[in-house]
Amino acid sequence: MKKLLEINNLVKHFPVVGGVFSRPIGWVRAVDDISFHIFEGETFGLVGESGSGKTTAGKTIIKLIEPTKGQIIFNGIDITKFGENKIRPLRREMQIIFQDPYGSLNPRMPIGEIIKEPLMVHNIGDKKEQEERVVEIMKLVGLRPEYLRRYPHEFSGGQRQRIGIARAVVLNPKFIVADEPVSALDASIQAQVLNLLLELQQKLALTYLLVAHNLAVVRHVSDRIGVMYLGKLVEVAETKELFKNPLHPYTQALLSAIPIPDPEIKKERILLQGDIPSPINPPSGCRFRTRCRYAKDICKESEPPLVDVGSGHYVACHFVKEGKVVEYSK
Ligand code: SF4
Repeated sequence: MKKLLEINNLVKHFPVVGGVFSRPIGWVRAVDDISFHIFEGETFGLVGESGSGKTTAGKTIIKLIEPTKGQIIFNGIDITKFGENKIRPLRREMQIIFQDPYGSLNPRMPIGEIIKEPLMVHNIGDKKEQEERVVEIMKLVGLRPEYLRRYPHEFSGGQRQRIGIARAVVLNPKFIVADEPVSALDASIQAQVLNLLLELQQKLALTYLLVAHNLAVVRHVSDRIGVMYLGKLVEVAETKELFKNPLHPYTQALLSAIPIPDPEIKKERILLQGDIPSPINPPSGCRFRTRCRYAKDICKESEPPLVDVGSGHYVACHFVKEGKVVEYSK
């Protein structure tokens, strides 16, 4: 399978400024040395609690935010150091769907204009062709073309997300970062929007990075999943494998929180103690150690690398070797 995207040792730190001269007095280590790849045509789910760095990772990958270090290879081209002029033509191929459809749509523009805007920015087609394309895309995402002169506030949350999706796909991109695309929607609407994303993936040969805080949301649409904790990737595996055989204690805790709709099946709920620590001053060694029920001295002293334990299942924990947990003593 061809890799559409390759991320090597990606780092994004933000300065924390203070004092009378507003000088940097520290760094928020939002994304701290992550590497993974996404195959053409697949959906890669990136999951973690709020503050894990997943959204920053998504925005950095498509260069909405400049990386601090590392390498981003898109479709065989190293785009890490591309400035605005060089990245602009590639923006046609890399789009984003935002979490808050209402906040991301200009309330003073009719939705036909909102969807048409990317075509105008990239100078694609004449006026008539642009209008035809808008109608075509509205039909494709399940919006009635006669609504094109209506404004965003006249639509429901689910319809607004369809407008956001229409704007993202109107340029016929290859790759889309979907940043929490359903977390602002009612549960009943979430499935419809996720199904629409799947349908569009088939029809338009799209590749997705799906960012979400909820493993249950990414489960049914992702081919592979990466779990992030405090700026680090702690586990990457195919979706089925991750749910059947979660190896990292953090993934195990996240999975234990997903309800099973069967009263006969009882499972242990692993409660994570406390909040995620500050990314300004993360714990030494394994960043998860302050909340891990298996932590030992070595976890404080050395950082576990993300290693392949077999069949593309990667884990960053000192006590996971060759697909098994060894030496845990409770
Ligand atoms: Fe827990 Fe240690 Fe493994 Fe980190 S390395 S997840 S602290 S057991």
